[in-house]
Amino acid sequence: MPELPEVETVKRGLAPVMEGSRIRRAELRRPDLRFPFPPAFSEALEGRRIVSLGRRAKYLLIDIEGGDVVIAHLGMSGSFRVEGAPEAETPGDFHMPRSKDTRHDHVVFHLETADGDRRVVYNDPRRFGFMDLARRQDLAAHPFFRDLGEEPTGNTLDADYIAAKFRGRQTPLKAALLDQKNIAGLGNIYVCEALWRAHLSPERLAGTLVTAAGKPKKELVVLTEAIRQVIADAIEAGGSTLRDHIRADGSLGYFQHSFSVYDREKEPCRTPGCTGTIGRIVQGGRSTFHCAACQK
Ligand SMILES: [Zn+2]
Repeated sequence: MPELPEVETVKRGLAPVMEGSRIRRAELRRPDLRFPFPPAFSEALEGRRIVSLGRRAKYLLIDIEGGDVVIAHLGMSGSFRVEGAPEAETPGDFHMPRSKDTRHDHVVFHLETADGDRRVVYNDPRRFGFMDLARRQDLAAHPFFRDLGEEPTGNTLDADYIAAKFRGRQTPLKAALLDQKNIAGLGNIYVCEALWRAHLSPERLAGTLVTAAGKPKKELVVLTEAIRQVIADAIEAGGSTLRDHIRADGSLGYFQHSFSVYDREKEPCRTPGCTGTIGRIVQGGRSTFHCAACQK
């Protein structure tokens, strides 16, 4: 499943092609993905210019002139690719069978760009992804976005903010960090990685990182920095996922297989000086990888 860094990578890969281009045609090859496309989806886009691309949590946001925004979610297996650029690979050049299967090309944006015509193709074999349309001014109050917490990117996420969220909470850290109302877009892999980096047990209760006065303890300051850093590192690496992922520029994606703790059950802990072994526990139905020796 694409996590926040993958969506950010997709956004950065698509932006040079899509921003400033005009949508000649928004071709829908089926009436729905996970949900039906909104009525008049294509009509709302055709002939319009794309103002900018953005991201909120794991949602890709395509701002269209006139105030409409396309909200796109990649679901479990969604990917974009660009066709028509001289340097772009054709679908047949992809090495991953799942993504070169054009039967799963469900949406094609036919674009007129400054460099000529391009096609931005959305492929999604499992169809857990979706696209919706909203007005820009309604976005903050939109059901997808109104309850989301701060982004782990940029400068808004700090220890004081998390302390206010965690104060008095008898919730394990793993669950508190996955709660999108606290931090937006943080998923299972990066929560495991951040907790390992901060030497904090996933079972530790969130409220124990906050003083009686509601201030962040030093451990929470360290955790906050770890969260920001694991996300920043992954974005820098071009996004990472457990499965192969096609990068948005039409080439095979950059895969970061080297997670420090995620999916490393029974391997030696990589914390310098630690002799522990990575264990796996199940929390909220999902695997948590951690080192009981150095994560307290
Ligand atoms: Zn360890």
